[in-house]
Amino acid sequence: MKTIDTHSHYNLTQFDEDREAAITRMAEADVGTICVGVDLETSKLAIEIATDNENIWACVGQHPTEWKQEFDAVEFADLAAGKFVVAIGECGLDYFRPEDKEHKDEQVVIFRRHIELAIETGLPLMLHIRPEMHTMTAYEDALDILEEYSQAVSGGGEPRGHQALRGTAHFFAGDKVIAQRFLDLGFYISFSGVITFVKEYQEVVAFVPLERILSETDAPFAAPAPYRGQRNEPAYVVEIVKKVAEIKGVGIEEAEVQLLNNAKILFRI
Ligand SMILES: [Zn+2]
Repeated sequence: MKTIDTHSHYNLTQFDEDREAAITRMAEADVGTICVGVDLETSKLAIEIATDNENIWACVGQHPTEWKQEFDAVEFADLAAGKFVVAIGECGLDYFRPEDKEHKDEQVVIFRRHIELAIETGLPLMLHIRPEMHTMTAYEDALDILEEYSQAVSGGGEPRGHQALRGTAHFFAGDKVIAQRFLDLGFYISFSGVITFVKEYQEVVAFVPLERILSETDAPFAAPAPYRGQRNEPAYVVEIVKKVAEIKGVGIEEAEVQLLNNAKILFRI
């Protein structure tokens, strides 16, 4: 494995027709991935896919827009103990659609259960934080909660969240102030294909140190250039690595090695 896509969804229906062929294409491109659950069923399927395939790991959790479902802490704790499970999520806060934002209290309760499970298991959090358009509110609320836990686990002394509370902000769409707060917590920042076609994100990529960046596709969603409009695939993560290398002014191989190493450290793979 030369490159890793730290966040994708072979477990969703968009891959029902050709899941095996898509996994083979990824393996041929020398890419590995973390298959991320969005609820109980897809978390179980992520574990199955990770068990059956080399260089695929699983992440278990309940997406914040799934706030209608109660969070089954017992069942998720059971799944989290699985051999191929390397993270908890995707979890967090999603205020993008008004119908989800109206239920932020329910989202917060479920988010807290995930954080507690992450601390208990020692696994990193895979955060999905999506604010309303032109705001940072979901990020601010999520960071307030994470900072509170980080202080608590460090006994009220200097925050040392990166030891007991670890994680990554998946599909990062925040600004530099938000990025700095994640970095201060010891978290990683994960960039998707959006950086290949939205200029505004490139400033944040330039700001975050290379040793704290992760690469991801979020396949089947958000295909990078030059595949825009098509179904995304983990193999396309190479386009994101190339863009990070370009913004950072380093060689593609150097970026590839560093980004893979970052994922190995965070997910202990
Ligand atoms: Zn996702």
